[in-house]
Amino acid sequence: MAEVIVVGAGISGLLAACYAARAGHKVKVLTYGQGALTVAGGIIDLYGYDKNGNLVTDPLAHIATLKKPHPYAIMGAARVEEALEAFKELTASQNYIYVGDGHHNQKVPTAIGSFKPSCLVPPSIQSDAVFARSKIVVVGFELLKDYYPKLIAKNLQHFFGDSKKVSVRQVTMNWPVGREYRDVSALDLARELETPVGRLNFVEQLKAHCDADTTLIIPPVLGERPEMSAAIQTELEERLNTHMVEVSSIPPSVTGLRLDRLLRNACFNLGVDIVEKGQVIGFASMADDRTDLPADRAAAARKVCARLITGGFGHTHEYQADAVIMATGGFFSSGLITQMGRMYEPVFGIEIKVPEDQKDWSHQYLFCGQPQPFAAYGVSVNENMQPVDAAGDVLFTNVQFVGRSLAGYDFCFEKSGNGVAITSAYHAVKQLDEILAQRKAVCDSL
Ligand SMILES: Cc1cc2nc3c(=O)[nH]c(=O)nc-3n(C[C@H](O)[C@H](O)[C@H](O)COP(=O)(O)OP(=O)(O)OC[C@H]3O[C@@H](n4cnc5c(N)ncnc54)[C@H](O)[C@@H]3O)c2cc1C
Repeated sequence: MAEVIVVGAGISGLLAACYAARAGHKVKVLTYGQGALTVAGGIIDLYGYDKNGNLVTDPLAHIATLKKPHPYAIMGAARVEEALEAFKELTASQNYIYVGDGHHNQKVPTAIGSFKPSCLVPPSIQSDAVFARSKIVVVGFELLKDYYPKLIAKNLQHFFGDSKKVSVRQVTMNWPVGREYRDVSALDLARELETPVGRLNFVEQLKAHCDADTTLIIPPVLGERPEMSAAIQTELEERLNTHMVEVSSIPPSVTGLRLDRLLRNACFNLGVDIVEKGQVIGFASMADDRTDLPADRAAAARKVCARLITGGFGHTHEYQADAVIMATGGFFSSGLITQMGRMYEPVFGIEIKVPEDQKDWSHQYLFCGQPQPFAAYGVSVNENMQPVDAAGDVLFTNVQFVGRSLAGYDFCFEKSGNGVAITSAYHAVKQLDEILAQRKAVCDSL
């Protein structure tokens, strides 16, 4: 059993921790702050649009054509398919089902009344009923912030034309006295719909507008807890004699938070130790402990991470590790840091190769119909997910990178964010035996 430390508790870190624990390792997660799941949809985009912006109909077939440095090309299409199945199995084991497969993009309704491609989604987001039924009622909630039912209805009516009738209904929940003085979020509503009174209130205001030919489009409010979501949906649909579809996400993202909660529960059940407020600020290499080594062996020892150092509140703490999985995210989560003309990974001090002139980092227009160069900057890795330099030489023997910090893809343009996250987490753990063997070889040679 090896001591594996995962840094970061976004989707890639939590999944890597689960898989490593299932593989029999002793796993600790060091993290601070929340990952992108708190704002992102919790749905698994695999590959939505090719580099020219055309919709991809068979993501796995398209992934098989991608070239390195795209992370999918490094890991291989077969690994991507395995990772999807592993993710579905893990989430189902926690009583939250994901539907779909890697060969089809589903049409996921968004909070502006458009549809985006995604591969694996919970049943509450599956949109078949929207297409099959002739009436759509877009449900709004009084006081709900950043959700515009009229805009959704207008765009859906434009999309479907005369083939469907789209209307809007506004629901008013019974908040405690004084609640009207602050905005309500989708999370408040999700908690309210976990109560029998909240559900009764919802049903009473909508039942006159529902029938078997109607689909309700709702914000993501079908419960905060993943294991309750399906039961809430079934109960409301039976009482309203209709079908409901949640839009993908509005921050705070209830669907993302459901997945976050599920993965943390799975970690807990597998005995993973999650250290919150564990901000990793640096590391000590094996060479730091062996100052007696000759130059060539010291160079090899410098490539082995012996301990991670966390810092904050005026003191530091060290954690011993046999292997480290870095799941620290991108710019959003400080897994990558940018300065004028420079980008680097802060824990291991890995310089990211970027154009000297910052003007060359991006196209002039954000929505120019092409991937943005800056979005694909990140840590370059080999087939074992070890960080490598421009010549392909391994920088750290027992360190792997997964998730958003990887180089070679624009998740936002191609719609591949969580697909790369779950595949790289799964693949890194599959390569762990190789990493541990390489580490042992270095240790034995010292
Ligand atoms: C607004 C938004 C919407 C999105 N919508 C979708 C979507 O609908 N579908 C989809 O597939 N993808 C979507 N994505 C992309 C997807 O969310 C990301 O690709 C994915 O969450 C990346 O996960 P991650 O685990 O690699 O990183 P993150 O989720 O960023 O997690 C990184 C974690 O590491 C921690 N961390 C960072 N540095 C340190 C350190 N030094 N020490 C300790 N901890 C550290 C952070 O605090 C965080 O917890 C969206 C992204 C955004 C921003």
